[in-house]
Amino acid sequence: MIEKITSSQQAIALEDKYGAHNYHPLPVVLSKGEGVFLWDVEGKKYFDFLSAYSAVNQGHCHPRIKDALIEQAGTLTLTSRAFHNDVLGPFEKYITEYFGFDKVLPMNTGAEGVETAIKIARKWGYEKKGIAENQATIIVADNNFHGRTTTVISFSNDENARKNFGPYTAGFVKVPYNDVDALKSIMAENKNVVAFLVEPIQGEAGVYTPDDTYIKEVAAVCKENNVLFIADEIQTGIARTGSLLAVCGNCSCEGHCEKQETYIQPDMLILGKAISGGFFPVSAVLANDEIMGVIKPGQHGSTFGGNPLGAKVAMAALDVVKDEKLAQNARKLGNIFRERMQKLVDKYNIVKLVRGKGLLNAVVINDSEDSSTAWDICVALKDNGLLAKPTHGNIIRFAPPLVITEEQLHECCDIIERTIEGFEK
Ligand SMILES: *Cc1c(COP(=O)(O)O)cnc(C)c1O
Repeated sequence: MIEKITSSQQAIALEDKYGAHNYHPLPVVLSKGEGVFLWDVEGKKYFDFLSAYSAVNQGHCHPRIKDALIEQAGTLTLTSRAFHNDVLGPFEKYITEYFGFDKVLPMNTGAEGVETAIKIARKWGYEKKGIAENQATIIVADNNFHGRTTTVISFSNDENARKNFGPYTAGFVKVPYNDVDALKSIMAENKNVVAFLVEPIQGEAGVYTPDDTYIKEVAAVCKENNVLFIADEIQTGIARTGSLLAVCGNCSCEGHCEKQETYIQPDMLILGKAISGGFFPVSAVLANDEIMGVIKPGQHGSTFGGNPLGAKVAMAALDVVKDEKLAQNARKLGNIFRERMQKLVDKYNIVKLVRGKGLLNAVVINDSEDSSTAWDICVALKDNGLLAKPTHGNIIRFAPPLVITEEQLHECCDIIERTIEGFEK
């Protein structure tokens, strides 16, 4: 029997009894979404300031993406890659042109995209760079977040994500984030390095935003050492940080413009989350022929990867990003948001700093990392009609859908200010 939910309490009790306890959600049960808004079971309306970890940059239930999904859902959803389908080719052409790469390998979740990039990089290392068998090394950054699979947690710093999940996958070394010299010295020491895998802004770690020159220097060091620069833009990509990709730097054109001077092309680009606007899991790895060419039939894949439903949804979702100029909006409103938050930093003791880019921002609370203050503030924000979530102990990430208007953003900043005020001693 499918139980009908009539109260939040009832829904939470069901999850508690029948679901694995692998998350610690805020006590709110959502039943409807539209644009920047969410509604709970009792009908209370909220501003969404998480956007499903930046998967719904286009806003909840975007009508254009919904129409694409419905149309394709009634036509053809899945054939597997045992056969061709008539949406995959157009999707591959569309997405490679959109981001300026020769080829794409479509998968489903972000973690699978990361796994795919790791496999391609290793194979490239053996077959193109001449690394001895089983010696390929991939450099990652401290405090990275690249997903939850066994290999990916092998190179995490997060003890909670790692403990008792060993033995871990070998072949990864860590460097401090935003430290080009550390990267250089590892590459000088270790000739088996095939790739550097990095987030252009570390989202889960607490929206750590590196120096403006970091990505450019990373790309240069990688190039000098014949090492692949792999950008994980699963969270930062698709207009979130005020440009189509975080590696676009300060360019705010929609789509890849004619190789503007601030754009740093990674050797591999990993996308997920907002690539499908929250409707259906789609992820992708993009690379040029000399890299993607190492993958031959039978060497990698996924039953759902490249399915016509996901492919149709992703094209509609990417169309929306361009047509609605979401990168420009994120850039403009991001500046306003940080200005407003900076006023709180100046005024209230409890707010330590604000950082971020575009509409991916974090406010650091003036309390210890293991305090519950950030959580308590998020609960109070919820009561005041705004949903956000702490990343780590004392950090709150603020990432609304990119369709938010300036007026709505000011209203939200008022809610945040009012809430913070209540915590000031
Ligand atoms: C969310 C995220 C992932 C993992 O994506 P899933 O779809 O949850 O597997 C990987 N890297 C980054 C940077 C992310 O933000």
